[in-house]
Amino acid sequence: MNIRIEKASVLKQKPEAGIELGFGNYFTDHMFIADYEEGKGWHDLRIVPYQPLTLDPSVQVFHYAQEVFEGLKAYKSEDNRTLLFRPDQNAARMKASCARVCLPEVPEDMFVEAVSALVKLEEDWIPKEKGTSLYIRPFVIATDSFLGIRIPKKASFIIILSPVGNYYPEGLNPVKIWVEDEYVRAVRGGTGAAKVGGNYAASLLATKIAHEAGFTQVLWLDGQERKYIEEVGSMNIFFKINGTIIAPALNGTILPGITRKSCLELIRSWGMPVEERRLSLDEVIEAAENGTLEEIWGSGTAAVISPVGMIHCRGKNYTVQDGGIGEVSQKLYDAITGIQQGRMEGPEGWVREL
Ligand SMILES: *Cc1c(COP(=O)(O)O)cnc(C)c1O
Repeated sequence: MNIRIEKASVLKQKPEAGIELGFGNYFTDHMFIADYEEGKGWHDLRIVPYQPLTLDPSVQVFHYAQEVFEGLKAYKSEDNRTLLFRPDQNAARMKASCARVCLPEVPEDMFVEAVSALVKLEEDWIPKEKGTSLYIRPFVIATDSFLGIRIPKKASFIIILSPVGNYYPEGLNPVKIWVEDEYVRAVRGGTGAAKVGGNYAASLLATKIAHEAGFTQVLWLDGQERKYIEEVGSMNIFFKINGTIIAPALNGTILPGITRKSCLELIRSWGMPVEERRLSLDEVIEAAENGTLEEIWGSGTAAVISPVGMIHCRGKNYTVQDGGIGEVSQKLYDAITGIQQGRMEGPEGWVREL
């Protein structure tokens, strides 16, 4: 694979060590772009200085939202190796997301090579403080300038990088979530299982309501009956009830998280009881009321593991784990971040060293 590299002549000032990076505020010196055209395929793979895009106002993504994205992270280990966490999984998911919205699929090897080449070039941007990493945001947009609705004939695959700290200002501290029983995120047959920007546009109103009420994220229920637990804003969700860990089963409306999958693989390897199944809100509330609701946590690349200290539903607040961090949440956080940062040996193939 031939990637042309055009280096920036002036490099940016990197954020000072120790500064609160937050999430998605800073961008590195370079970005990756590849273009697609029907008949020609993906071409002109290049790494260029980070810069604004010039697009015709009629390009399809602006009007019909043909956009898919991914999120993964690069880490520096203590012995200064540059590590990626399961990039093959993101490559496979992006391909599936593209297929769902009729964008040209990015070949998996092109995805992994492009991510690797860009991160390698920007290695010095990987922050080293505890809880920090280099967030990688690959995305595909439809770039035909044409106002009719059709399957795109042109697209761009772009990757940008952002040094990040904690996703939530709370860090590993527990978040408060709002159970949304009016608006829904996804319906059967829709795009819930694809990582498309449009899903987030549809989710913002409920998130605004939750924020105004003092909650960090929305817990979505199923779109048909508003009865079963699906996932949290940008995370999958796990419950521990009476000693058993329960993850809502992937049913076509839930985003198949790579952190979720990794949690399940670890939990199974530790021999803890775990079920992937339909889980109703009523079952969770009953467990909260009879004292068997032991833990709730969210999983996602951005926050890794996010313990949930309180849920709000139907006008009532339920405190979980006395508002603290549960044992399994902590164990998963330590294991996954340990593997990601090269302090611990993970299962075969989880870490790709650049
Ligand atoms: C990206 C995402 C997740 C988490 O997936 P990871 O691969 O673990 O980062 C969960 N839910 C939604 C809606 C997402 O967009």
